[in-house]
Amino acid sequence: MSNAPFPIRASSFASLFSCAHRWEAIHIDKMRSRSGRRAGLGTAVHAGAAAYDIARVNQESISVDEACGVFMDELSNQEERIDPRIDDLSIKDAQVIGIKLVSEYCNHIAPKFNYVAVEMETKPFDINCGNGVTIRLTGTLDRARIHSYQGGIGIADIKTGKKAVIKDQKTGQPKANIAGHGAQIGTYELLYEYTTGEKITAPAGIIGLSTETSHLIAVDSISNAKQIITGTDIQPGLLEFAADMFASGKFPPNTKSMLCSEKYCPRWNSCVYRER
Ligand code: SF4
Repeated sequence: MSNAPFPIRASSFASLFSCAHRWEAIHIDKMRSRSGRRAGLGTAVHAGAAAYDIARVNQESISVDEACGVFMDELSNQEERIDPRIDDLSIKDAQVIGIKLVSEYCNHIAPKFNYVAVEMETKPFDINCGNGVTIRLTGTLDRARIHSYQGGIGIADIKTGKKAVIKDQKTGQPKANIAGHGAQIGTYELLYEYTTGEKITAPAGIIGLSTETSHLIAVDSISNAKQIITGTDIQPGLLEFAADMFASGKFPPNTKSMLCSEKYCPRWNSCVYRER
């Protein structure tokens, strides 16, 4: 008898390993988490940048002002869904930061990438992990792009947030923060390869757009994303660790997780593992 596959969206993979107990609450028990205006700002910046990139891939004409218009519309749509108490970002500041980021991205970053697809649909990918556990990797390549680079194909992904751009410890220069994105990118790479039959050979490009008032933008790369998911000959990948959790039905808590707060965890009030 076969068991139903356990679905994991690429965008949620990393959070499974931040606090699995929280992940279980959101993705299995369907508890809802709140989100603040900065998250809404990120969503709206993605919408503006995506409108620009999709038009370019389709060889249609779009101005930077039009992409900023898409950003403004989406920011206003987001107001219905956000809880403004979560962060201290005003709508006016969100507008100023977003317009700056979308303009800079369209004028200076997008032209450096040769995109061949934006937010591509992918087929669900069932992976038999043994012990009766099948994991289903799902989703569109949410906010990701496919870009061609030096004769190969790779993923390019825009990341927004307060810490999307950090200071390089060696040079002191701004750099895109790649930490914690490998699981999502690796899942995108597997989904792309499964859907198209084409191999990903280029490193993934991470485009960091800081939603701080500094509105810095920087690009960096990840070259081992798929291996983070699949592992090596001698070490298991995150997929295997995830399969162990599904097989046991045990999703361990992590009170040191960055997401362990009333703002981000829907299990906050009932979680017996956090200190009171
Ligand atoms: S309160 Fe903290 S430890 Fe408990 S589920 Fe939420 S994030 Fe995990």
